[in-house]
Amino acid sequence: MQTNYDVIILGSGIAGLYGALNLDRKLRVLLLAKRELTLCNSSLAQGGIAAVYDRLHDSVQKHINDTLVAGGFRNDRKAVEILTTEGPDDVRRLIELGVDFDRTETGEPHLTLEGGHTRPRILHHKDSTGKEITDTLIQQVRALPNVTILEHSTACDLQKTGNTFHLDVLDEPGSHQAFHSHFLVIASGGIGRVYEYTTNSSIATGDGITLAYRLGARIKNLHYIQFHPTAFANRHTRESFLISESVRGEGAYLLNCHSQRFMQEYDERLELAPRDVVSRCIMEEAKRTHSDQFYLDITHEDPDAVKARFPLIYENLLKEGCDMTRDKIPVYPCQHYLMGGIDVDIDSTTTIDGMYACGECSHTGVHGANRLASNSLLEAVVFSRRCAAKINSLASDAPDSFEEYTFHNDRPGEPIPHGIRTETRSILQKAYFVTPDLAEARSGYERVCQLRDQLESSGYLVNRDFVEARSLVTVACLILREVLED
Ligand SMILES: Cc1cc2nc3c(=O)[nH]c(=O)nc-3n(C[C@H](O)[C@H](O)[C@H](O)COP(=O)(O)OP(=O)(O)OC[C@H]3O[C@@H](n4cnc5c(N)ncnc54)[C@H](O)[C@@H]3O)c2cc1C
Repeated sequence: MQTNYDVIILGSGIAGLYGALNLDRKLRVLLLAKRELTLCNSSLAQGGIAAVYDRLHDSVQKHINDTLVAGGFRNDRKAVEILTTEGPDDVRRLIELGVDFDRTETGEPHLTLEGGHTRPRILHHKDSTGKEITDTLIQQVRALPNVTILEHSTACDLQKTGNTFHLDVLDEPGSHQAFHSHFLVIASGGIGRVYEYTTNSSIATGDGITLAYRLGARIKNLHYIQFHPTAFANRHTRESFLISESVRGEGAYLLNCHSQRFMQEYDERLELAPRDVVSRCIMEEAKRTHSDQFYLDITHEDPDAVKARFPLIYENLLKEGCDMTRDKIPVYPCQHYLMGGIDVDIDSTTTIDGMYACGECSHTGVHGANRLASNSLLEAVVFSRRCAAKINSLASDAPDSFEEYTFHNDRPGEPIPHGIRTETRSILQKAYFVTPDLAEARSGYERVCQLRDQLESSGYLVNRDFVEARSLVTVACLILREVLED
C-alpha cells in the first residue's frame, strides 16, 4: 500500500473529517481512525452546534460575550472572534453537505438554549446532533478519491526528520506499518479516559497529545477540564451517559436529595449557569446536604414533547428503568471535555513546523477556562477548515521527496503490567475532580511520573494497550503539573 502522503490526518471525528473535506483535492491524504470511524466523541454529541443563525434576535457580539463569560475571560479573544464570525458559514456549509438540523414550522433551523447562552442559538438534530453530522461527513469523505481511510489503525509513534513526518501505525491484526507525510494534522480528540467517570468514548486516551508532546510540541492548559454537571448517575460503567444541557434548556429543574431546587442559593442564572458553575454548586450542595444524590426533573413538561425532543436520552434512560416523563433522573457531575491541549495559533499551526492540531486535542484558546455549551463542534469545524486552508496555501512549496525512517516497534516484548490504567484513573479522580485537591495532586503527580518513566524506558510490547496506557500516564502528569503550578 502507498506509504507517502502529502497530509496525514490522525483522527476521524468531526475535526478530521471536515479538515479532509476542505483540503485541496490534489493532495494525497491519509485519514486514520483508531477503531471504527463512528467511535469517537463527535458521534456522541447530543445538544448541538452553537452559531448566530438568527441575526434578528441574536448577534455575534452576544455570542462573543457569552463565550468570554463562560470561559472566565481566560479566552483568546482573537480566536473567539474568528469562531463566532466564521462559524455561521461553516454551519451553512454543513447544511449544504446534507446535515439535517431540526426545523421550525416555517422551515428555519430550530434554535435551542443551553447553559451560559443568553439567546437560543443551538442548531441540533433531535438529541443526536453529533451522529447526524459525523454520518454526513463520513459519507462525503468516503466519496473523495484523494483520501485513503484506514480504520482500526492506531498511531503508536511519531518522528520527524527534515521535512517529513513518520508515523508508526498498528493495524488490528497487529502489524506495524510506517507512513510518511509533509504535513501532519492531529485531530485525535480528548482525554476523558484518564478519569474513572467520563462521558467520553473509549478512544479518548489523549494519544495525539502524547505523540505531539513527545515530539516537543507545546502543550497548554491541560488542567482546563470541563466536568459536566448532569451525567446519568450510574456508577456501573465507566462511560457515563450524558443528560444534555438542553434538557435544562427545555425547562428541567436540578434538585437535591430532598427534591428541592437549590441553584437559586448559588447563582441567579439558576440551572442555566455555565457548566463549571453548576458542577461546583452541586459539589457545594453535596457538602451541605451530606448527600451525593441529585436529580433532573422535567416531569412538569408535556411528555410527548419531551419524548419527541429527546428520543435518544428517553430511550437510554428507559433501559435503566427511568421514564424521564414521569421520574426524576439521577445525575452527578463527571469529566466531559478538555479545553487545553496542543497549543495552536488561529490557523491551527502547532509549535512544530508542518504539524497542525484541531478539535478537542488542540488548544486554540477559544474556550478559556470553561467551554460554553455547543461551542466545541463549532470550534472543530471552523479551525479544521482554517487548518486545511493553511495547508492548501503551503502545499505547492512542499518538496517532492520524502525522507526515510525505520521504526523498531514490531520487536517482541512483555505486555504492560495489569493495573496501570486503573491506578492512573483513581489518582486523577482523587486529585482533581471539579476542584483540585492539592495534597492528592502532589502525591499523585509523583506516582504518575514514575509510571510514565516505567512505560517509556522498558521494552514493552507496543500494542494498543501499551500506547493508550502511555498516553494516560503522560496526560495525567501534564494535568497534575499544571494543577500544581496554577
Ligand atoms: C457525550 C458527549 C456529548 C457532547 N455534546 C456536545 C454538543 O452537544 N455540542 C458540542 O459542541 N460538543 C459536544 N461534545 C464535545 C464534542 O463532541 C467533541 O469535543 C468533538 O466532537 C471532538 O471532535 P474531534 O474530532 O476533536 O475528536 P473525536 O470526535 O473524539 O475524534 C477523535 C478521532 O481520533 C482518533 N484517534 C485517537 N487516537 C488515535 C490513535 N492513536 N491512532 C489513530 N486514531 C486515533 C479516533 O479514532 C477518532 O477518530 C460532546 C461530547 C461528548 C462526549
